[in-house]
Amino acid sequence: MTQIDWDNLGFSYIKTPFRYISHWKNGSWDEGRLTEDNQLHISEGSPALHYGQQCFEGLKAYRCKDGSINLFRVQENAKRMNRSASRLMMANVPEEKFVDAVKQVVTANKDYVPPYGSGGTLYLRPLLIGVGDSIGVQPADEYIFTVFCMPVGAYFKGGLKPTNFIISDYDRAAPQGTGAVKVGGNYAASILPGEDAKARSFSDCIYLDPATHTKIEEVGSANFFGITYDDEFITPISPSILPSITKYSLLYLAENRLGLKAIEGDVYLSELDRYKEAGACGTAAVISPIGGIQYGDTFHVFHSETEVGPITKKLYDELTGIQFGDVAAPEGWIMKAVQ
Ligand SMILES: *Cc1c(COP(=O)(O)O)cnc(C)c1O
Repeated sequence: MTQIDWDNLGFSYIKTPFRYISHWKNGSWDEGRLTEDNQLHISEGSPALHYGQQCFEGLKAYRCKDGSINLFRVQENAKRMNRSASRLMMANVPEEKFVDAVKQVVTANKDYVPPYGSGGTLYLRPLLIGVGDSIGVQPADEYIFTVFCMPVGAYFKGGLKPTNFIISDYDRAAPQGTGAVKVGGNYAASILPGEDAKARSFSDCIYLDPATHTKIEEVGSANFFGITYDDEFITPISPSILPSITKYSLLYLAENRLGLKAIEGDVYLSELDRYKEAGACGTAAVISPIGGIQYGDTFHVFHSETEVGPITKKLYDELTGIQFGDVAAPEGWIMKAVQ
């Protein structure tokens, strides 16, 4: 096995030994299998290449104190991938097949799940693409479902640190477009605004609602949440936001474990003064505290530009405690990939 420096992992591609692959043709999936081949061999006519007929998921496997490996709400990823697939008229992947593929990949690569306490996790990337000899704008005749994985480091080394964001003039998705599904096209559209923000020393950009440009929608490729001075946990509601599993988990934990009032509602840019804390959330970002937001000539600071707020910290500890098996999980949230 290649030697991995567990303490210095980032978020980059590492070739692990095994990935899962299954092919759909003539109306059904084949059995699917693990392979050591990390190259896909597909037709140059594949609709995934030309018209973006593809969708993906992202989830993590967590090493627990006792050495076992947890998956967090994996069924939700399976369901969401099928919502994405249906929106793009792609073959669905049965939920059991999705979960089984993820478990097989984690088990086969279990030596690559970072040790408990390192903050690292095994990131899993399920991918569904339309392939086959084609060229017209229509659904593919064939599909490939693959799941690969790589160890990734803690998002914040040395503790949660707020970072700053800037409101983008661009839209990530259209009001009735594909913003609510996890498809590559949304990401292609977000690369330029994201790089613009980084070139100006911000962590990423924040997208406003595409219809009126008055409400916060997404933070780069993560969801937004704010905590008001009235102790409400609020996340934006909109048909063009990607329904983050982390976000729905935080809504539950805020209400049931922290005693906050949890609401999906509008977060107006003109009302940022209502919020004492804010953050971005998602599988990769976990919870990333937002220090300040730049819009036009204004820079709005929440709790602090340098210190994480107390409620954001509590939510982070509760969520990651559940994921790593140190805090009791709500019913059905944890599945063991490896006992
Ligand atoms: C995947 C994703 C998220 C986060 O979703 P999780 O289920 O929490 O990982 C948020 N926004 C966008 C645009 C995404 O693609």
